Amino acid sequence: MTESNLLLYCRPGFEKECAAEIMDISTRANLPGYVKARDNSGYVVFMSSTASKLDSLNQQISFQTLIFARQLIFMQALLRDLPVDDRISPIMDTLQNLPVDFYDVMVETADTNEAKQLNSFCKKFTTPLRQKLKSQKRMDTHSPWRLHLCFLNSTTCYLGLTHKNNSSPYSMGIARLKSPKQAPSRSTLKLEEAFKTMLSEEEASSFLQNGMTAVDLGACPGGWTWQMVQRGIRTIAIDNGAMDEKLMDTGLVTHIAADGFKYRPEKPVDWLICDMVERPLHIARLISQWRVDGDCRYAAFNLKLPMKQRYMIVMQCIELIEDALDEAGIDAEIRVKHLYHDREEVTVIIV
Ligand code: SAM
Repeated sequence: MTESNLLLYCRPGFEKECAAEIMDISTRANLPGYVKARDNSGYVVFMSSTASKLDSLNQQISFQTLIFARQLIFMQALLRDLPVDDRISPIMDTLQNLPVDFYDVMVETADTNEAKQLNSFCKKFTTPLRQKLKSQKRMDTHSPWRLHLCFLNSTTCYLGLTHKNNSSPYSMGIARLKSPKQAPSRSTLKLEEAFKTMLSEEEASSFLQNGMTAVDLGACPGGWTWQMVQRGIRTIAIDNGAMDEKLMDTGLVTHIAADGFKYRPEKPVDWLICDMVERPLHIARLISQWRVDGDCRYAAFNLKLPMKQRYMIVMQCIELIEDALDEAGIDAEIRVKHLYHDREEVTVIIV
């Protein structure tokens, strides 16, 4: 059992997009296989048709570049009919065949309403399992691999591995954030999650510095602007609506009632952020034009997804931005992620 398949977590309802993406990527990586996906299950399984080794799969598939997957697990086994009075023994037996050691274990479920009922079971099961692993010296702090058990019900689970440099560090792949009390809207969490998960710590401290400047298109009531202001970034908020008064009292925000598609700053700014509800290709074109014209250095924005052909539209937007930047000779990285706090939208960062 040294071959690996893939288990990908996604937002329930986005299995088709997650499946289309992994098929696309595996085809480009010359990795034949097929996908098993059930609507609203919160996960997708990619079965490789060739015997794929863990290390080579880990090199071929990069978690950072996956848009719709919250977690990338190299699946080793599906364990069924676990005895309710001793689930641990069959799991320990399966571990004998793992190709690598691991430094930690996560016991989790998919992010669906039905699966959520399994959450307390998973939490309770973690302690005895961890104790058993420790007593049998199965954990190795030097290993880069982490063990995952994804329970589908209380007697069935996928067993797999994630690599610490090629996965989400969060349980269920979800960066749970507390909504800050002072923030004007819950939308603030989308930008906070983007900065936290799409930039490395070094990038975040270098790209988001006190004294920088930003423009926020579609800013009201100010959740995204608040994130910038928290970091000491002076922000011009563009929107016909009303901005939160306390945020305006910080003195770091200039509110201009204008059309986000027409406004341009007098001087270039460090960041362009944009959460306008508009057709995604229009937003992609607008942001590309700002970057090509040199009006911003970095950008963070949402692409609102249509009901159908969501994957195709996202790919069209990325291609549009890539072409525009290439043509202008701009060497920038485009990162795209369907974040936990995103719903019918994906977040893009250009750095
Ligand atoms: N990011 C905001 C926050 O965190 O509080 C929420 C933004 S809300 C989802 C979208 C905003 O975009 C609305 O306030 C709307 O008025 C604004 N908007 C939509 N089209 C716009 C346009 N063409 N120009 C300026 N603002 C626009």
